[in-house]
Amino acid sequence: MQAYPLFIGGEWVDAASRQTFTTQNPADTRETVATYASAGPAEVRQAFDAAAAAFPAWSAQTSVARGRILSQASQILATRKAALAQLLTREEGKTLAEATGEVQRAIDIFRFYGGLSYTLGGQTLPHDLPGNFLYTRRDPLGVVALITPWNFPVAIPVWKTAPALLCGNTVVLKPASATPALALEVAKALAEAGLPKGVLNVVTGPGKAFGDEVVTHRSVAAVSFTGSHSVGTQLYTGLAPRMVRAQMEMGGKNPTIVLADADLDLAARLVAIAGFGLTGQACTATSRVIVERSVLDAFTEKLVAKAKAIQVGNGLKEGITMGPAVSESQLKTNLQYIDIATGEGATLVTGGKRLTQGDHAHGWFMEPAILTGVKPGSRLACEEVFGPVVGIIAVDDFEQAITVANEVEFGLSASLVTRDFGRAMRYVDRIQAGVVKVNQISTGLALQAPFGGVKGSSTDSFREQGLAALDFYTRSRTVYLDYSA
Ligand code: ADP
Repeated sequence: MQAYPLFIGGEWVDAASRQTFTTQNPADTRETVATYASAGPAEVRQAFDAAAAAFPAWSAQTSVARGRILSQASQILATRKAALAQLLTREEGKTLAEATGEVQRAIDIFRFYGGLSYTLGGQTLPHDLPGNFLYTRRDPLGVVALITPWNFPVAIPVWKTAPALLCGNTVVLKPASATPALALEVAKALAEAGLPKGVLNVVTGPGKAFGDEVVTHRSVAAVSFTGSHSVGTQLYTGLAPRMVRAQMEMGGKNPTIVLADADLDLAARLVAIAGFGLTGQACTATSRVIVERSVLDAFTEKLVAKAKAIQVGNGLKEGITMGPAVSESQLKTNLQYIDIATGEGATLVTGGKRLTQGDHAHGWFMEPAILTGVKPGSRLACEEVFGPVVGIIAVDDFEQAITVANEVEFGLSASLVTRDFGRAMRYVDRIQAGVVKVNQISTGLALQAPFGGVKGSSTDSFREQGLAALDFYTRSRTVYLDYSA
């Protein structure tokens, strides 16, 4: 078992209170994965002070020099890929294949921003008058606070940290308490890559203690948060009086629309991956399938077959295609939503039972669940579950499908399965989602493309990832030079 202290000012330090917490393997809760120091307000303050002290020197380096460290971290992580993927699976529960893909994503994100370091710059513009030079430059913001959820314990910390550092900011990162190991491993790799002390600080511990300090600490220049709608809203309103730049990525209730002309085998495959892959624990997971009534039975039959073929178990084992829920409380939520849905008139057509026998005896396992007859406006049709629970909603036609898809308060990701180009394009025009897919899974993002939601899924101010991240982590200034005299 590993013990991780806090990473503050380039040193590995315990909390003054000596308080710690542990994580358990969700596939076998008898196994403690790691022990962590629990940061209170004093340590959080120290981390922000360390980041503030490191800012002048770090921001004075060229972006190329900073990028070199990111590229080096990418290479260091690549040498540890297999071990980090194992650690990720043991702590979060996703399958080893999923965890390996996520670690590779982190490696690639560092590589991407490392390369981009050669291009970080502004715009030159023609001035109205001759003998004038008009340009913009990108400047770092200062200290940024990054708050990340448990479901992508390495990809999300890295897609926030890498662009923040590239742009010359210093960082305090607070990973989710259920899965902090990978964020600390990233800090280790960055330190080995030559990141100066205090440029990145990682504190583990209760979200509330961290959030309270983020809201009040004068050196916090920006906050990037991914997590629940309730915490995101609370933080955003807390930051508003100081007008701190903030980006909140929150939940989703993502639809996959299946039109009557669709390849139903493809549709079933896409929904099975996007709904049950990662145990449904992705903010872009498909949780609603909106199906034209004429193909409802044929589609449902194919999706049920896919769900039944899923092998639930410990993600480290060969042949397992779906891991456990991350925690007991998440498992309870998943099962509760099945009761809520059947109570509202939906029919459970497959799965939905907790698994407790044999290899499943010590983990938070359940069968992937499919419910039919889900009514638009019912709780399962509107509320995020964050588990392998897919509700099928029947509609009469394309028009109704779009209406139903849009009548939730979220708008993160959506997919449409069809062979009809015209309807696909009309869906692209009208669907209320930040990520719009056609004939693809609703999950899965390109690291080089902007990512974010609309409506209740996001503050919808700045996008994450790709070049869009540079807009969030820098401020633009405009320079007027007159050499006409
Ligand atoms: P999730 O259930 O997806 O992890 P949460 O919103 O509960 O969503 O948590 C997301 C992140 O926000 C975690 O790192 C958590 O510790 C942190 N967090 C929780 N409460 C607060 C708060 N009051 N202020 C700041 N961060 C918080």
